[in-house]
Amino acid sequence: MRISVAIPLYNEHGVLPELLARTGRVLDSIPGGPHEIVCIDDGSVDGTWELLSEAARRDPRVVAVSLSRNFGHQAAFSAALDYVSGGVVVLMDGDLQDPPEAIPQLLETFREGYDVVYAVRVKRKEGLLLRSCYYLFYALISLLANVRLPRGAGDFCLMSRRVVDELTRTQERLRYLRGLRTWVGFRQIGVPIERAQRYSGKSKYSPRRLLKLAFDGIFAFSIVPIRAATMLGGITILVSIAVAAYSVAAKLLFDRSPQGFTALIVSMAFFAGTQLVFLGVIGEYIGRIYEEVKARPVYIVKETIRSRRPWMQNTLEESATCIAVTGGGGLERR
Ligand code: UDP
Ligand code: MG
Repeated sequence: MRISVAIPLYNEHGVLPELLARTGRVLDSIPGGPHEIVCIDDGSVDGTWELLSEAARRDPRVVAVSLSRNFGHQAAFSAALDYVSGGVVVLMDGDLQDPPEAIPQLLETFREGYDVVYAVRVKRKEGLLLRSCYYLFYALISLLANVRLPRGAGDFCLMSRRVVDELTRTQERLRYLRGLRTWVGFRQIGVPIERAQRYSGKSKYSPRRLLKLAFDGIFAFSIVPIRAATMLGGITILVSIAVAAYSVAAKLLFDRSPQGFTALIVSMAFFAGTQLVFLGVIGEYIGRIYEEVKARPVYIVKETIRSRRPWMQNTLEESATCIAVTGGGGLERR
């Protein structure tokens, strides 16, 4: 069994040596192989690539791929999936929040006959506010999504080759990988794993990027937000029919006309607001359709460094051609 560990890196200069050392040690302890560590440099500007390319020249297990600019965490993972060659693939963040030492545990569960073993985060180390936001998000998405997305499961996972092949076949450009992974199916199971603190540096996810990821997840796996407009519209019509009936009855029976300038203004403002919100919701979907039909590549590769296959010959292969990858599919040379 050959294991590929796929790691996206964006300005992780401070973590990289420790990351490669620890991951390498864990891989050494797993029989089989030769295993590989596929690192995607997602347009770092802090010298991560220099360190990484050096490591790839030194260590035949390390495959280094540099993207032409920063494409984002999920795009970098997609790139990694196109480059891994092992029969078992581990997706792992590059900041050591996902401990490489957990890989043998994931592997053990995998051997029981699963295709996907994902880590379920216990004891998050983030602040209270962020933890509550995560909780809220997972509650919301598991309520809305058309697949049963497991709560608290991040990208850290171990997958079989056939799942990876199916993932790379999906053509979506706005990729929410942990959702796609669930969507693919086969036998999947979660394993509780404690999430460590970031080894060094700062989180690359600003609140804005986190929100974008959350929206990508919800809008890619649910059309309930649009349906909500239909439901709310239906309820509004029922309420207005009831109010109209009440008004007619009040006039006929008690000769009383309902009054209320304030009620009029408040209800108008309320409905103007809801209409704008749902216009926004529809806009989100249209924006995503626009992104998808443009069909731009998910990422563009600037340079790759790896030892030539068959594995153990240990001659270096360096390529600086630009490779654009359309969708999650095959490589297309430009
Ligand atoms: N990352 C990346 N591209 C980006 C942002 C992040 O490749 O645009 C990498 C980053 O280097 C790290 C992983 O994705 O290895 C997770 O990012 P981070 O730890 O900043 O996210 P958090 O754990 O705070 O959600
Ligand atoms: Mg992190």
